[in-house]
Amino acid sequence: MRDWLPPQFYALKHMEDVLSRVAESFGYRRVETPVVEHFEVLAKKAGQEVINEIYYFKDKAGRDLGLRFDMTVPVARALSYSLDMPRPVRWYYFTKVFRYDEPQHGRYREFYQFGIELVGSASPRAEAEVLHVLAESLSAAGAADYVVKINDRRAVDKMLEALGLSAYRDVIYRALDKKLKLPREEVVAVMTSGGVPRDKAEKIYDMTSEMPLQEAADHLTRLDQSLGAHYAKLVKYLDASTGLGGFRFDMSIVRGLDYYTGIVFEAFAGEYKLAVGGGGRYDDLLELYSGVKTPALGFAIGVERLMEAVGLHNVEKPLDYYIYIFDDEAYPQAAAVAKKLRSAGFSVAVELGEKSLKEAFEYILKIGTRYLIIIGKKELERGVVKIRDLQKREEYEKPINEL
Ligand code: AMP
Repeated sequence: MRDWLPPQFYALKHMEDVLSRVAESFGYRRVETPVVEHFEVLAKKAGQEVINEIYYFKDKAGRDLGLRFDMTVPVARALSYSLDMPRPVRWYYFTKVFRYDEPQHGRYREFYQFGIELVGSASPRAEAEVLHVLAESLSAAGAADYVVKINDRRAVDKMLEALGLSAYRDVIYRALDKKLKLPREEVVAVMTSGGVPRDKAEKIYDMTSEMPLQEAADHLTRLDQSLGAHYAKLVKYLDASTGLGGFRFDMSIVRGLDYYTGIVFEAFAGEYKLAVGGGGRYDDLLELYSGVKTPALGFAIGVERLMEAVGLHNVEKPLDYYIYIFDDEAYPQAAAVAKKLRSAGFSVAVELGEKSLKEAFEYILKIGTRYLIIIGKKELERGVVKIRDLQKREEYEKPINEL
């Protein structure tokens, strides 16, 4: 977990503004939910690996609780109370989630996710829209060199069925999930140690290759006619909105969370090694909470990782004006000038009476303030203030009523 001191916080806030603007421009509206959920709500369809990462505790009444590990589950729960809401629902969030993960580079226990959920549509246009918002978000954040790798869990399942390996689905998913991170031998070893014959494990490794998204429809048609037809449409829509530049089809993308049912994808930014985002379709999740089958999909971006990938670390927000006075006599004037400047939208601090002019000068040089306003006895008598512009290295006087 990390502290966000002002320069880092304003960098985060900048990211929040940029990403929120993108989501809002597509008609998504912001939601927030409690960080604490009933453990059983969180555990419902997370998968064992994610369940192990839940921050779990008992409250004083002995209830089993946990901190949310993503926003998809809380959103699904919240929507189950609002079944009459007109569909599709377009929601987005920018908020903290928690995972009891092994801390390492790019892996925090408390981190921010920005993401969207599009609920109530099974159309390939919904998929194209979500991928379009993801692409726009990455571009707006400064990662126009994004790569989004897309796959469909149904395609992997069809392939396993054809190879007679459906019984090994879990271990094969686990191995494929490591394909981008581990060498071939180790990925194959994950499968063989789970009982998959070596020749088949190698075959799976080779069959789950990457290709341009344009080729996905043909490839999928060979596995399943209707899946191929779905992707032909999706690619057409996505091409119209994004030109398909950064999109690839990659059969090794399966994602760690158990709730995905169809399309899954992961996003990368430039040279940054770790995934900056991921998402997919989870058509069975909402039914678990509401009892009503509801198609839905979404994505989440790891905000800290995206900031790291685009090199956004600090945004300085200096104080605009520092008003120096020598004694209490000028305080009412200083307060009046400060009020005027603040109401004009500037940030202003008034000397607290503990620094000499020299010390005040050194202080504002350090904190990056541009203007020093000095109200001395002589200035007061003449109804003016002295303004020192530290950027232009100029000093001039200005009548108070002209400020
Ligand atoms: P997931 O749905 O688990 O793939 O999470 C979505 C995105 O959140 C990932 O692509 C990462 O960018 C980010 N993320 C996941 N886990 C962490 C973590 N422990 N620390 C920081 N970012 C993370």
